[in-house]
Amino acid sequence: MKAFIYESAPARVIFGFGTATQLTQELERLCVSRALVLSTPERKNKAEEISACLGAKRAGIFAGAVMHTPVHVTEEAVDVARAFQADVVVAIGGGSTIGLAKAIALRTDLPQVVLPTTYAGSEMTPILGETKDGLKTTQRTLKVLPEVVIYDVELTYSLPANTSITSGINAMAHAVEALYAKDGNPIISLMAEEGIRAFGVSLPRLASDPKDRDARAQALYGAWLCGTCLGAAGMALHHKLCHTLGGSFNLPHAETHTVILPHATAYNASFAPQAMAAVARALRVENAADGLFDFIQRVGAPTSLAQLGFMESDIDRAMEIATRAPYWNPRPVEPEALRTLLTRAWAGKRPH
Ligand code: NAD
Repeated sequence: MKAFIYESAPARVIFGFGTATQLTQELERLCVSRALVLSTPERKNKAEEISACLGAKRAGIFAGAVMHTPVHVTEEAVDVARAFQADVVVAIGGGSTIGLAKAIALRTDLPQVVLPTTYAGSEMTPILGETKDGLKTTQRTLKVLPEVVIYDVELTYSLPANTSITSGINAMAHAVEALYAKDGNPIISLMAEEGIRAFGVSLPRLASDPKDRDARAQALYGAWLCGTCLGAAGMALHHKLCHTLGGSFNLPHAETHTVILPHATAYNASFAPQAMAAVARALRVENAADGLFDFIQRVGAPTSLAQLGFMESDIDRAMEIATRAPYWNPRPVEPEALRTLLTRAWAGKRPH
């Protein structure tokens, strides 16, 4: 066994069905009494409904969260928080809403209570990505790590089947890269393998019945584990490629992760045999990359970048942007091999 460092981030995690009703108790535990509740515009009614139990502890609602955490939205939300004299932020939503809570916490030091409603996993990470003037920058600081995470399986019932599946595969990608991370460790590897297993059993069931309660619970449990992996270990080629494709070509976040994952896995396969064995065990398949590709096809998720609107003529530019700044990856990042990877991913071919 190779030497490792294990550092666990502080986390209070409440998991179950109907746990959103524990929100008031959690605010009391934190000794706060004026919550600013955050959501996306589409989920405002749901945020109102869930936070109604807070009574006078609900200082106000800000339903302006959008993808990629634009700084001008954060500044508006901080002004609202100050106007309401909020002493805590409560985020009800996916990565976009949680990103806004983190950005407010960074600027105000307000504690955060988060109720995740997708599987993206941001709630378990000390990472914040923000956008200003079209540029997305990412930072890592414990100041943005939520104090309390309330996983309520019932909040995920409304997530449409296709979004649930791509969101789940986005989470699996955190676990796959944690398994071969330079700063990985045996505990995070246990979580990663278990997270992939949980999605391996739940996503096919959600594809046929998005209201399957047990599958919803397994998927949310997987999201917690995979989010913890993302927070604890450095990511490599897969996340860099998806960041490039999302940031510079405006491709949809979770769908891009879904298409790229089998290809990035195949790229690194011979340089990370233990990680590949763990993925294969978790999915009960012989080969990690092929198994992921077959899995994605089986659950009806996208397998080609062309399907997402990416142009073949942009492959060279994507390759150039993705290789501009050096970063660690189990296998050296070679431009020609990357072109082959992107070309196969564009066409929806099997990884190799
Ligand atoms: P999202 O939060 O943007 O949500 C996608 C859409 O689904 C929104 O319209 C939202 O209103 C809706 N929605 C959310 N939950 C729903 C539910 N239960 N029922 C019905 N509709 C629902 O999407 P996401 O994939 O969760 O988050 C993506 C963003 O999060 C990206 O900006 C990404 O960079 C970021 N992210 C950050 C981290 C991190 O650690 N910092 C980790 C993962 C993702």
